[in-house]
Amino acid sequence: METKQIANKNVTFHNYNTVIVGSGAAGINCGVHLYEFMERKGINNPQDRIVVVTAGLGLGASRMSGSDKQTYYKMGTSPDVADSAEEFAKSLTAAGCCHGDTALIEAIVSLREFYHLVQVGVAFPTDTTGIFIGYKTDHDPYERATSAGPKTSKFMSEALQRQLQRYGVRIIDNQEVAHLLTTGSGSDRRIAGVVTIDRTSINKSNYAMNVYLGENIVLAAGGPGELYKTSVYPKGQLGIHGLAFKAGLIGANLTESQFGLASIKFRWNVSGTYMQAIPRIFSIDAEGKDEKEFLTGFFPTMSKMATDIFLKGYQWPFDPQRIENLQSSLIDILVFNETQKGRRVFMDFLHNPVDRAGMKEFAVDDLEPEAKGYLQKAGALQKTPIERLAHMNTPAIEIYKENGIDLYSEPLEIAVCAQHNNGGFAVDKWWQSNIPHTFVIGEMAGTHGVKRPGGSALNSGQTGGLRAAEYIINAYGCELPDYSGKKADIEKQLSQLIGRIETYKSSSGLTAEEVLEEVRSRMTASGGHIRELNDAQKALKYAIELYKSIQQKGFNSKDATALITAIQAEHLALTSVAYLKAIVELLKQGSGSRGSHLVLAKDGIEIHPDVIDKATNKPLKFKPENKSLRDSILHIEYDQSSPDLFRCETIKLRPAPTERKAFEPAWKDYREGKIYNS
Ligand SMILES: Cc1cc2nc3c(=O)[nH]c(=O)nc-3n(C[C@H](O)[C@H](O)[C@H](O)COP(=O)(O)OP(=O)(O)OC[C@H]3O[C@@H](n4cnc5c(N)ncnc54)[C@H](O)[C@@H]3O)c2cc1C
Repeated sequence: METKQIANKNVTFHNYNTVIVGSGAAGINCGVHLYEFMERKGINNPQDRIVVVTAGLGLGASRMSGSDKQTYYKMGTSPDVADSAEEFAKSLTAAGCCHGDTALIEAIVSLREFYHLVQVGVAFPTDTTGIFIGYKTDHDPYERATSAGPKTSKFMSEALQRQLQRYGVRIIDNQEVAHLLTTGSGSDRRIAGVVTIDRTSINKSNYAMNVYLGENIVLAAGGPGELYKTSVYPKGQLGIHGLAFKAGLIGANLTESQFGLASIKFRWNVSGTYMQAIPRIFSIDAEGKDEKEFLTGFFPTMSKMATDIFLKGYQWPFDPQRIENLQSSLIDILVFNETQKGRRVFMDFLHNPVDRAGMKEFAVDDLEPEAKGYLQKAGALQKTPIERLAHMNTPAIEIYKENGIDLYSEPLEIAVCAQHNNGGFAVDKWWQSNIPHTFVIGEMAGTHGVKRPGGSALNSGQTGGLRAAEYIINAYGCELPDYSGKKADIEKQLSQLIGRIETYKSSSGLTAEEVLEEVRSRMTASGGHIRELNDAQKALKYAIELYKSIQQKGFNSKDATALITAIQAEHLALTSVAYLKAIVELLKQGSGSRGSHLVLAKDGIEIHPDVIDKATNKPLKFKPENKSLRDSILHIEYDQSSPDLFRCETIKLRPAPTERKAFEPAWKDYREGKIYNS
């Protein structure tokens, strides 16, 4: 550790072999594996060579998010149903835009990482013979899913953290990333370190700056949760996408955000048993009056409507391919429609769905076979939704109780929320980014395609952490970095950053909270689950104007305490430009409705005869998916000289490796480290 004066500011430098940004399930797991690989190499005191820096140990999706039984998707562990990595990979790549190599690796590594979690103490349930019991989730044809309850990812992070702390690896909390230090250009470009502001050090006039230099950098800062206004990401989950773009990382599949029904007072997904209990869904006006059974008018029978509510349990994300002919994603559209009218929508677990004139009363016996069979098998034939939910999953009720909501006495407000990004930053089969020595894992990595089976995000995060750690130790080694030859370059960037932060105190600057609010509102309105080219183009134009205006005017932060919000507003504004640029580009390619977003088109397919376009007073229509784009991925890269600040490129998919070597030659390659050469 060394402290230097740069631009009249004390800056403290720390040196590590690997710096991990983010303490979610992905980042911490990578730290655990790095330690273990270093130890296996005979390195003394590996804990002194690895560090995790994070804005908040208790923050992020892993620690704060979940659902009725938060899912971990792994290869099947049933004793009588055979599964294979190739079959698993096919489920990941089924809807396209997903590299074959990373999908196969996520499959191959899945059980290794699942058992690793079991070993560090995550209580995944077994039966008396030790079978890890599986169930079915969205986009999952097998029963590969398992769960440790509503808080699976929290338990994962905590168990991994305990392991990391047993190893003595330091987690440095309250470090807000303000910049990624870069050196060199072209193939010599590196991210040399991470610059943070210590959140605990900030007072009215000053703040402390740290620089974590690393031979290797692992970015695990999660998704850009704060990008959307209507969101189930935990509050305060910012991510560092804007900073990563500026450092030169290439984004992939950014257009593929996932949206779905979630509670908004306490941010939580209402998937699985919340829907399978089949609650009544109703709306009220802004004054809390005029209660309406708004769904009933769109369904011919109670059986169809109640079955669709049930199916939302494991067809949870909004899916434009499940709208036509009264399929389950029509529910999301109708909920969204209702909220667009300024009304509020609730799930009521005390009552069954209420019929309208001409409809039969709700009865489990009248449900369509899939729903009826499931409830019968689960023994969930109680009279009311809350009784059925209590029978199937009491922890799902308790999690709301812990957060001040009693489902026995109050309805649950819901909306169609942003919850995950299948895209992120492009990585190779070792989760290395386009910049050598920089790895991207967890939700920040863009390894998912257009659709992913529910639960595969957590598997992907663990896989990425293992792969990055293995490659770092075996291909790049365990030494500390030496940036003495880059001192001038590094200090210049730090001076510029400190100068830039000074402009955040300009009296004529923008207000950071207002910038954040503008970004979020625009993304929810124009980059959410319903998209249209003209609208997205306008949104992109305004997003670029906002970012340029931040560059010119800075912020009007009165003192150092507001610095963090200003830093966040600047990089989130750039992130929103990237997302909108990718959305516009994909719409221009004629992508149509896919994944978790619907594209409006005058000459498209009718959503429902009674879902009306206000502008034309005719039924709203959507463009079906252009399946010819399934074998490509949209890349996006920051380019200051481009009018839109970013440029896009469509790349072909990498296939899954098919070569299978005999044991002896494969063993030789492994012994000689040749497996890290390609
Ligand atoms: C409601 C909900 C339900 C979900 N359910 C499932 C599910 O059932 N199954 C599944 O597989 N996935 C699910 N997901 C997705 C999954 O939880 C996330 O993708 C995963 O937890 C991300 O892990 P991560 O380690 O990459 O990032 P996170 O857990 O989000 O951690 C990010 C870390 O980076 C830090 N950080 C962020 N920004 C900054 C910054 N600017 N400076 C410094 N540090 C920063 C944070 O403090 C945090 O430590 C769900 C997500 C949500 C929101």
